[in-house]
Amino acid sequence: MDKYQVLKQYFGYDRFREGQECLIDSLLSGRDTLGIMPTGAGKSLCFQIPALLMDGVTLVISPLISLMKDQVKALNEAGVHAAFLNSSLTAGQYYKALSYAAQGRYTIIYVAPERLLTEEFQRFAFHTKIAMVAVDEAHCVSQWGQDFRPSYLKIVEFIRQLPVRPVIGAFTATATREVRDDIIDILMLQEPTVLTTGFDRPNLYFSVQSPKNPYATMKNFIETHPKDSGIVYCLTRKTVEEICSRLHGDGFSVTRYHAGLSDVERRENQDEFIYDQAQIMVATNAFGMGIDKSNVRYVIHYNMPKNMESYYQEAGRAGRDGEAADCLLFYQGKDVVTNQYFIDNNQDNEELDPVTQRIVTERDRERLKKMTWYCFTNECLRSYILRYFGEYGSNYCGNCSNCLTQFETVDVTEAARALIGTAVWCGGRYGTTVLLETVRGADTVKIRRYGMEKSPYYGKLPHMPVPKLRQILTHLVLEEYLYVTNDEYALVRATEKSKDILNGIGTVVMKMAREQERPVKEKNSSAAKGSRAMGVAFTEAEERLFEKLRQVRTEIARQEKVPPYIVFSDKTLIHMCVVKPRDRAQMLSVSGVGEHKYQKYGKVFLECIQREEGQF
Ligand code: ADP
Ligand code: MG
Ligand code: ZN
Repeated sequence: MDKYQVLKQYFGYDRFREGQECLIDSLLSGRDTLGIMPTGAGKSLCFQIPALLMDGVTLVISPLISLMKDQVKALNEAGVHAAFLNSSLTAGQYYKALSYAAQGRYTIIYVAPERLLTEEFQRFAFHTKIAMVAVDEAHCVSQWGQDFRPSYLKIVEFIRQLPVRPVIGAFTATATREVRDDIIDILMLQEPTVLTTGFDRPNLYFSVQSPKNPYATMKNFIETHPKDSGIVYCLTRKTVEEICSRLHGDGFSVTRYHAGLSDVERRENQDEFIYDQAQIMVATNAFGMGIDKSNVRYVIHYNMPKNMESYYQEAGRAGRDGEAADCLLFYQGKDVVTNQYFIDNNQDNEELDPVTQRIVTERDRERLKKMTWYCFTNECLRSYILRYFGEYGSNYCGNCSNCLTQFETVDVTEAARALIGTAVWCGGRYGTTVLLETVRGADTVKIRRYGMEKSPYYGKLPHMPVPKLRQILTHLVLEEYLYVTNDEYALVRATEKSKDILNGIGTVVMKMAREQERPVKEKNSSAAKGSRAMGVAFTEAEERLFEKLRQVRTEIARQEKVPPYIVFSDKTLIHMCVVKPRDRAQMLSVSGVGEHKYQKYGKVFLECIQREEGQF
């Protein structure tokens, strides 16, 4: 089998997503590999597929028990022999699993890092051919990250003791430079392939609001998404309790999660949400790591979180299936105060000495400031996020609350003509600053020395603010009216295309942020616009079929004791409604239906579709 066949046969997908192939090929060729991809991008497949193609066992190191359980369940559902070894097993279960492992029954074994150096595990590891060690959530090795786990430091010692060094793959969604370098150094990756894919999640709609009555605004939103699964994040346990009971009182299907609940209750509530028994999860940031529920349609931040890293990670739990989903943030001034208080009283890490503690506090304040700016910016929210994570975004995404309310199409022909004209007049001998100063009519030494005050465009745009002029200039470069020379002087020159504009032919328009501060408009139901149909509007009969298929799935999930999305994701069911397969071949063409799942469930779903067929 090759990687494409494995993808289809076990996972039921036709195509790799961005970055996956490169990472898989790298591991298969025996090279250490570091994959940095945002939450939901599909990192698991990047080590699971090579694991199925390599000779020997793959060990996956993962920080959380719930995460391991979920992935192992999903793998077994897909027909891959996998097991986990962690503290949730009794001693008896643990030894049994280990002896099966020693017999070579498993292709993939998830193991908790603190187990690696135990005697029993080492005995197993030294007598088994280990093809690969995949370190999931690899940022846990770094003290810079938010989730530093000392037990992750054991990984490298474990590997060093192995008779043969396996290939090492490391995966994370944390993109900062410090963390990336730490992963490479601490795990001692050897000339690794390092791949960072785009952090943009185009299917997520971002919105910031400051509603007068946040509860009413949220309730209104939830009512317009009656069947959708969603998460509401609050800053404090108290707010979680309050919001959860109000929603409950208003008749919503809701559950809650925070560190003040018992382990048992937390687990039960989490399961209720994952198994679609409770539709809304109200939680503090304690909830979510390792939750791979693919059909979360919205994440509402009832309060502003402490930094952009947390925000993007939590909001990113929406729409993991790639379908449209909404991320709303409610901002109130008191959120800043609450977060300040958390920062100043942070006792998370008692091991820190006073100096380090001070540095950490300083850094946290800085991050909070950037989070606050996000709530106030008039720019495209997506480009703000991407820039924060060190990526360039376009200035306008068309799918965030700012783009939809704060932007307007502006005719900038006059400004364009002045800028292009200046560049032509001086023969392309100067850079951006001189151009901007000329059209604004600045009276500086430089301008006089260059004789720019004699230009016919001098002082043409005296009142236009510099940032706005810069935006227009950037637009002109992007649209190829101007180009910037690629040397240390970065001179601005005009292109052929700009001639018409200079000669008064044609116009230049662009999207620009509105100038005056506007009240943020409350939007509702933007998600309804096709969160369901993948760009296809469902007929009523198809809507009915979708509901029927969901019922079939719920029934199977109950029998198999797995979450519904592990049977088939919403996306797969939607695709089924579009394809309406009649036989095995057609069913296998549905995204997410692999051979193994077809054999387990194919017939039931085919029958369901047949029963409904008369209706189409
Ligand atoms: P990550 O670990 O990067 O956050 P996961 O590995 O949990 O993401 O994958 C997120 C979702 O994307 C899963 O439901 C997974 O089945 C799905 N997925 C992964 N790769 C593909 C693909 N090539 N085509 C379609 N869906 C995919
Ligand atoms: Mg993952
Ligand atoms: Zn935008």
